[in-house]
Amino acid sequence: MLAGMSVSQPSAPAPYPHLFSPLDLGFCTLPNRVLMGSMHTGLEDHARDFGRLAEYFAERARGGVGLMVTGGFAPNIEGWLKPFASRLSSRWQVAPHRRITGAVHAAGGRICLQILHAGRYGVHPLIVAPSAIKSPITPFTPRALSERGIERTIRAFVRCARLAQDAGYDGVEIMGSEGYLINQFLAERSNQRKDRWGGSAENRMRFPVEIVRRTRETVGRDFIIVYRLSMLDLVDRAQAWDEIVALAKQVEAAGATLINTGIGWHEARIPTIVTSVPRAAFTWVTRRMKESVRIPLITTNRINMPEVAEQVLARGDADMVSMARPLLADPEWVAKARSARADRINTCIACNQACLDHVFENRLASCLVNPRACHETELVIAPAATRKRFVVAGAGPAGLAAACTLAERGHAVALYEQSGEIGGQFNLAKRIPGKEEFSETLRYFRNRLADLGVDVRLNTAADPASLQSSHCDAVIVATGVTPRDPRIPGQDHPMVISYHDAVMGVRPIGKRVAIVGAGGIGFDVAEFLTQPPPSPTTDIARWTREWGVDTTLAHRGGIDKPEVETSPREVWLLQRTPGKPGKRLNKTTGWVHRAALKAKGVKMLGGVTYERIDDAGLHVTIDREVRTLEVDNVIICAGQESNRALADELIALGIPVHVVGGADVAAELDAKRAINQATRLAATL
Ligand code: NAP
Ligand code: SF4
Repeated sequence: MLAGMSVSQPSAPAPYPHLFSPLDLGFCTLPNRVLMGSMHTGLEDHARDFGRLAEYFAERARGGVGLMVTGGFAPNIEGWLKPFASRLSSRWQVAPHRRITGAVHAAGGRICLQILHAGRYGVHPLIVAPSAIKSPITPFTPRALSERGIERTIRAFVRCARLAQDAGYDGVEIMGSEGYLINQFLAERSNQRKDRWGGSAENRMRFPVEIVRRTRETVGRDFIIVYRLSMLDLVDRAQAWDEIVALAKQVEAAGATLINTGIGWHEARIPTIVTSVPRAAFTWVTRRMKESVRIPLITTNRINMPEVAEQVLARGDADMVSMARPLLADPEWVAKARSARADRINTCIACNQACLDHVFENRLASCLVNPRACHETELVIAPAATRKRFVVAGAGPAGLAAACTLAERGHAVALYEQSGEIGGQFNLAKRIPGKEEFSETLRYFRNRLADLGVDVRLNTAADPASLQSSHCDAVIVATGVTPRDPRIPGQDHPMVISYHDAVMGVRPIGKRVAIVGAGGIGFDVAEFLTQPPPSPTTDIARWTREWGVDTTLAHRGGIDKPEVETSPREVWLLQRTPGKPGKRLNKTTGWVHRAALKAKGVKMLGGVTYERIDDAGLHVTIDREVRTLEVDNVIICAGQESNRALADELIALGIPVHVVGGADVAAELDAKRAINQATRLAATL
């Protein structure tokens, strides 16, 4: 759909009246209050991938999202995120973008291109910044821009916006937050210039205001300009609140159509989007800004379900909500909310495992709960040519994904689960403070199984004899894992508890606890032991206090001294590998887990040899020194082994078998691999 056209509105459905009320921007009307926020997927970096990118956006436009923003495109080479990354600075680059805008418009959507100059966050030797100050998270020191360089950079932003307009975009988003170049100009920590671009607040904000003003002059009136404004920097020597408000007013006066909220620089050490951040934890800051500007404001971060979005809008925190990852997880999010089918939404669990972690590893983004994300053209779930009968053994993430995908393709599916509930390891994960979102995935699968008519047999172990007589075409073995036996002398002592029994509350746990194994599950168990219920993730005020977010906005950067609640237990988290535990945790979330446990006083020790367990506690050797940890309990989190017994028996009986998930590879027991593998297999059977 073209900018300037008005959209005819369906009547607002009862459950989410604010979410589905149209937003009039003067020259066009958005059909609802959902912005698909910018997220780099990796498909932006090569024009050869724009066909895939077009389908990725088109699928979401068909799902009814009001406005979308692409991943960031640099306005010049200096602004690259990495060498040869996405850039729009020359006329010859325009034509491939028309595939994207054409596909989105044909699907009835609208899309803006994000202009992102990485500044000192670029990972290449050509980077520039207001001052030659290296960031703590990148290896290169930037060159300080000269005054002429600043002029050239402003012109590059404007040229990029003009090219985006020529490419058919409905607007641009000017990326002024998250610690990228524009944000670097705004904060003393990265801008120590003495000329008219540094020093006073007025000088520091000249750069973004000039960009917005000249962009508006160039693109004319009927073109969306979203300015992404850092409302909370969450780093020290950053902006004060009155400076941020002054900037918002100037950006409005310079011609922005909408102001989007940015929260936290990438170098900030306060989590802003991981799953332990409460839902809608930062919308209060957008509400504060609403007192000062008239143009519509967009709020963001950890809004993942329609009722949350509706509450935020109904409270008047903002005029629109931005969601990036939730629309990766479910392209039909808006359509499902609109038709009162929110309980069918495949909810983003904010794990970052397949999206941001991939981007930071230079891999194509996808989604843990939706492996089709960014693979729309290649992972197609098409109706099966012949209807077959399958048994899926095990209802963990792999079994659930296999059963649903097979049923969606028209096959008859029976799903056997020996326990009384679906979910496998997710039933443990959802009990960890800060991982409550995992229960949404189970709700999604439960409803999807019912909708698809899968024959779910709980409390039923799949035994080889009955499977043989069932005459199914094949069995998908998704029997998961069994905990590894660490073979520590004395491990049959009553103080020793499995992680399963600890998390499920099967046995009481004492005040002093040693955890054997510091992988993903060891860290989860440590959080479970040190964070008394209710989980801080359910309480925004408590969470902001614990992490030191200044909700009074009295301090620069919005940071305050954290007030950490004392752990009810003394905990040791141990591993045999030398060095600090937690190095192998995921890139974008590992630091949060390490920081949370450090704040709770958990003693994280590497290079441990387990000698024995007896009434005195756990005897270990560390750095050749023998120590006794006088603990009440030892919890074993020593990893997993594949549970392949059923697969082996079925193969011996000549029954066709496909093994997926942890039953296939335990070393990488993780839901991302399990769901992806099972979905891809089921798409081909
Ligand atoms: P893991 O990440 O492989 O960690 C296993 C830990 O056990 C390591 O710290 C390892 O360290 C130690 N270990 C291995 N062999 C041992 C032995 N023989 N004796 C004593 N210690 C031993 O496994 P995990 O913690 O079970 O997590 C597996 C995966 O599950 C993660 O990668 C994550 O993706 C996923 N995950 C699942 C959940 C869940 O709730 N289900 C939660 C978090 C993560 P050393 O060898 O150095 O001692
Ligand atoms: Fe959300 Fe995790 Fe999917 Fe990323 S990978 S979109 S965080 S569910």
